[in-house]
Amino acid sequence: MPSFTPELLTDLRAAVDRAMRGEFYAKRFAGLDAQKIITQQAFEALPFTDKNDLRDAYPLGLSAVDEREIVRIHSSSGTTGTPVIIPYTKQDVDDWATMFARCYKTAGITPLDRIHITPGYGLWTAGIGFQLGAEKLGAMAIPLGPGNTEKQLQMMMDLGSTVLCATSSYALLLAEEIAKRGIKDKIKLRKGVIGSERWGEKMRSRIAEELGVELYDIYGLTEIYGPGIGINCQHSSAMHMWTDFFFYEIIDPKTGKPVPDGEVGELVITTLRKEGAPLIRYRTHDLTRAVSGDCPCGSHFPRIDAILGRSDDMIKVKGVILFPGKVDSLLSGIADVSSEYQIIIDHLNGRDMLTLFFETPVENAVFREALQQTVQTEFKAKIGFLPVVKAVGMGELPRSEKKSTRIFDNRY
Ligand code: ZN
Repeated sequence: MPSFTPELLTDLRAAVDRAMRGEFYAKRFAGLDAQKIITQQAFEALPFTDKNDLRDAYPLGLSAVDEREIVRIHSSSGTTGTPVIIPYTKQDVDDWATMFARCYKTAGITPLDRIHITPGYGLWTAGIGFQLGAEKLGAMAIPLGPGNTEKQLQMMMDLGSTVLCATSSYALLLAEEIAKRGIKDKIKLRKGVIGSERWGEKMRSRIAEELGVELYDIYGLTEIYGPGIGINCQHSSAMHMWTDFFFYEIIDPKTGKPVPDGEVGELVITTLRKEGAPLIRYRTHDLTRAVSGDCPCGSHFPRIDAILGRSDDMIKVKGVILFPGKVDSLLSGIADVSSEYQIIIDHLNGRDMLTLFFETPVENAVFREALQQTVQTEFKAKIGFLPVVKAVGMGELPRSEKKSTRIFDNRY
């Protein structure tokens, strides 16, 4: 996490001051004198802002500037209830483009690249952000938007697209279509920029291999500009964060206190320059951890790990933090173990007990026993304690829509 230098505190005071010019924070921070934020403790005493708070400001209550300054709005796709509307000034749009162009550069993309954009255009920030960044960089944007695979592939061949921007699932679909049609030699892609959703190592290597590209994870969320506020470089999967535009903290989602450096916690963001809708201590609910040390690429921007999951899904068992992403990646590395699993946590005789059920096509009892042993050993090595492990046949576990319902916590 970036440290609280006097310069940072000055920037934070200015950010709070700017935010309080709008109705939303004027009310939220009523009576606060931003100039009194002169220590880390004073800043950390400010309440967090959550997505539900932003919903209450619908439609334009988040605006912190005169309406004449607003040039655009975006909206986050609320899965439930009222959407969140984020107003942008001309400067905000320009800052976003600057950050996005920096992402492309960090991924080794140049003005000579032809950037094939498949995320959607509309109220949300996806497609238009990829486009803004491409134009700022001076590359050629090919704004396809999602769907119509036939046309995607034709344009990809005819225009010689060199960079694919997509969600991981759409990148995989395109990769499979390219393989199926045997047109790989007509495809000129060299890099893929993938929107940061949680995706497994198995999927990553399949996309990289089938498309023959280097993959980059781009981070962002509509409430804080959109995608493009951080990306990994070619040296590792950790993402550089553009801390000249925002400040971030990594907190324990239960206590709200900062976690020790390197430990998993929830990413919280404060915008430093945003005018239209500044946000102070905004909870992203994304789990990550600080990655320390200098990056061999030479960038001085600090790094966080690729997003590991959602804090809403995180639980603590025997003092160890556990979330579905961790179990997914553990199981995906073991042969004959399917991606379907279920975890039940009980509290028996004063102790937590975790039982992990997983599906396997292996039917032979001896082999199943051996497989259970392997999963148990791997779990202990990678997560930190011994679970009870039970293998079941394919299709035996109930299917659910939500990933988080794979974990059943019976302790409380
Ligand atoms: Zn780097």
